[in-house]
Amino acid sequence: MRSVEAFRDLQCEATEWRRYLHENPELDYQVHNTASFVAEKLASFGINHIETGIAETGIVALIQGEGGEGPTIGLRADMDALPIVEASNKPWSSKVPGKMHACGHDGHTAMLLGAAKHLASTRNFKGSVALIFQPAEEVELPSGGLRMVQEGIMDRFDISQVFGMHNQPGMEIGKFAICDGPIMGSQDDFDIVVKGRGGHAAHPYRTIDPVVIAAQIILGLQTLVSRKTDPKEALVISVTKLRAAQAYNVIPDNVEMAGTVRTLASGLRDFAEREISACAQGVARGFGADIEFKYRRSVPITFNHTEGTNLAIKAARNLVGSASVDDKMGPSMGAEDFAYMLEARPGAFIFLGNGPTAACHNPAFDFNDEALPYGIGYWVDLVETVLAV
Ligand SMILES: [Zn+2]
Ligand SMILES: [Zn+2]
Repeated sequence: MRSVEAFRDLQCEATEWRRYLHENPELDYQVHNTASFVAEKLASFGINHIETGIAETGIVALIQGEGGEGPTIGLRADMDALPIVEASNKPWSSKVPGKMHACGHDGHTAMLLGAAKHLASTRNFKGSVALIFQPAEEVELPSGGLRMVQEGIMDRFDISQVFGMHNQPGMEIGKFAICDGPIMGSQDDFDIVVKGRGGHAAHPYRTIDPVVIAAQIILGLQTLVSRKTDPKEALVISVTKLRAAQAYNVIPDNVEMAGTVRTLASGLRDFAEREISACAQGVARGFGADIEFKYRRSVPITFNHTEGTNLAIKAARNLVGSASVDDKMGPSMGAEDFAYMLEARPGAFIFLGNGPTAACHNPAFDFNDEALPYGIGYWVDLVETVLAV
């Protein structure tokens, strides 16, 4: 077993990187400064195979082990921040108004850089490691993970397995959590326009009031989960947007509504698309109205493969001991675009304790630098486990 103490020196350095990235957040594909910072650091570690500009600002860098021939595995970190006004009150708070690292991708980038520095100096593994730094995890389609896969990184770098990691606020520092199979949900979005007939609010009997119909549809959609889905399967349908008339005395012609669907079972995506449409159509027709319906598939389910999961568990246990690795965590209904990489190649996604911090996407969130040596140690152990000499 390796102790996390082996990574304390790297922790100091990685803390500086992390805080620099935190002060200088960038959004979506526009992570130009972050990507140059990453590329410069990688070069300074003696890594000479660095490809930049993949999916605009993504980077893949290769470190070859000194343990002989072997496969290439991919380790992925995301680099983008969020359009949120920071309220963490930390000395290293964002210097860019309206942008902040509220999901800890600054920490993810710093940890993969720390692991890169260690691996480039020790090279105690066979085959190669592909360090994947991706932009635009937080954006709507097409996200950075999808675009890097579409631009062919898996084939081009001959990557056979991929691994990802995310910090988890509320979980103790030094703990890891993972599960086999679905670990994060898929995300689909839908739009419904209820098409009625507007008029004066004083004379609703002369209209087909789409507001009342929209209200019925919202309630009807709640029954798709409660009455039509096996309670042992996870499905969330949330209506989140609603737009009707802007005036007190107007019944509008149309009401626009929209929402999101999350699930851990891919068959339920087909179910949701079909049943939301049928429910909305049925309710609207019952009142003499009609609907327009759009369903957009976004991020797929983040699906951990058994072999990759077992390797990840082994590496984490090697670092922190079995008691600190929850290998049967309950999956999250949040979505994560690393899912695209796991669709392209087998592997696993793991959560790393961030201590009692504010939640991700909260203006008070800050990545916990105490987690850095655990994340760095996990990457190093994982490489030396999967690519053991
Ligand atoms: Zn996020
Ligand atoms: Zn995130």
